[in-house]
Amino acid sequence: MGISLLTVCYLVASVTFILGLKMLSDPATARRGNLIAAGGMILAIVGTIFLYEANGERLHNYGWIFGGIFIGGIAGALAARKVQMTAMPEMVSLFNGTGGACAALISIAEFRRLRRWPDIDIEALKSYLPKLGEFVQDQFKIQLGPSGGELLIILLGLIIGSVSFAGSIIAWGKLNGRIKDVTFRGQHIFNLLLLSVVLLLAGYILFSMDRGGGNIDISDLTVSMNKPVPAHVHVLFYIVLLLSVLYGVCFVLPIGGADMPVVISLLNSFTGVAAACGGFLYNNKAMLTGGILVGAAGTLLTILMCKAMNRSLKNVLIRSFGSMAAAAGSEAKEQGAYKEISLSDAAVILSYAHKVMIVPGYGLAVAQAQHACHELEKLLTEKGVEVKYAIHPVAGRMPGHMNVLLAEADVSYDNLLEMEQANEQFPTTDVVIVLGANDVVNPAAKSDPASPIYGMPILEVELARTCIVNKRSMKPGYAGIDNELFFRPKTSMLFGDAKKVLQDLLSEIKSI
Ligand code: NDP
Repeated sequence: MGISLLTVCYLVASVTFILGLKMLSDPATARRGNLIAAGGMILAIVGTIFLYEANGERLHNYGWIFGGIFIGGIAGALAARKVQMTAMPEMVSLFNGTGGACAALISIAEFRRLRRWPDIDIEALKSYLPKLGEFVQDQFKIQLGPSGGELLIILLGLIIGSVSFAGSIIAWGKLNGRIKDVTFRGQHIFNLLLLSVVLLLAGYILFSMDRGGGNIDISDLTVSMNKPVPAHVHVLFYIVLLLSVLYGVCFVLPIGGADMPVVISLLNSFTGVAAACGGFLYNNKAMLTGGILVGAAGTLLTILMCKAMNRSLKNVLIRSFGSMAAAAGSEAKEQGAYKEISLSDAAVILSYAHKVMIVPGYGLAVAQAQHACHELEKLLTEKGVEVKYAIHPVAGRMPGHMNVLLAEADVSYDNLLEMEQANEQFPTTDVVIVLGANDVVNPAAKSDPASPIYGMPILEVELARTCIVNKRSMKPGYAGIDNELFFRPKTSMLFGDAKKVLQDLLSEIKSI
């Protein structure tokens, strides 16, 4: 009865995960989807704690379980409440790292449990011996050791989980600027060799442990092991752990900061696979479904982001963005003069336009200017101006950053245009106002093959009649490269913090 109720819990949880994921694809339903999936997760956790049975026993170490849930829950809730939207990718990376660490810890715990197998089964086996004696006359051999499949899953969970943990921590450090890109000659060969060593050692462990057997002597009711697990295999297991952690570090270190979202998404899919391994080990369907969904979603997101930047995954992982930016920077061209526009002129141009396109970027998030931005949209709309937002897929610092930011300010989703739609509409747009965006509107992505962002699709704002760019200075954006757009004849710079500029612009427009 307990087990079947637990199965129902897992089934319901799995359905909520799928539903939640589906609802996350639309901003209008995303919040509800998140809550539904979280509810499913709570059901799966509570079900496991109170209904799970192994060898006729329920879980009993409640102190540890609830202690862990309490501490983890408080830490997670505080971190989620306090985090700035701009630091969200860092938090995602850190949380993803803990997921990978959990998967690796499960593998360690299960491996340690397997090590004890000769002691565990003997007493139970002895009690069955008289019954077995009825069927078997002499000695016979049985498989007492771990099955090859079980060991394979343990090793996969260990390797993938540790790589994901270490890689995510490095990605976190890179995003907050604590860790710099590290590149050296032959780095990729070194990484490949390291991975090969990890896989070879894992293969050796698999081969040498998957042959444990035992003898049961029916005549004198004794059980003995004829092939104990070799001691050096235990040591090798921990060497595989250490080398996997090292590989995770070396794998992410050379990848440039601007490519971190792709890497985090990839590591996220790794964590999903590692969690699915845990689901296999414990025959836990909810964990299995959750892991597979995370693995699949992470992989799809990785592919989509690569497509958004027009780069292959291999290109992202092998080419160091940081060094490319530095190389491009060393050849920086003289760009000429730029034009400035006053607040009052900008207010007039915007007020008398037919169609205005707002291009939000990372700077808008830094300035927390989303509400002021929505106010501007409302005011212009009241004046009969058609106002839309052009959203670049990698604007900001995480996938969907601008959508979340604008949703926070109650901007209608109907007014957000995806990059392709926006690019079609720029030629018929009177004024584009770029708010704290830089790389995503940099024409070098189209025109300069030497540029590190060459090939990345951009918002072609220069196609509009006028372009007003708001930022605080002429400093470059995330990719660290100059932006020719600022020097083009149709472009005017409106310097200042995005929030302050928008507030002043609102007052000016109101006074017209
Ligand atoms: P960028 O980082 O290219 O540019 C942001 C601009 O905002 C800067 O040039 C800065 O200029 C300006 N800015 C900063 N603070 C303010 C402020 N308070 N008020 C006004 N302006 C401000 O941002 P984009 O959104 O154009 O591009 C995103 C970049 O980040 C891409 O290179 C992308 O690959 C990368 N990236 C994207 C991720 C994602 O998933 N979306 C994750 C990680 C990286 P100034 O200092 O002069 O004010």
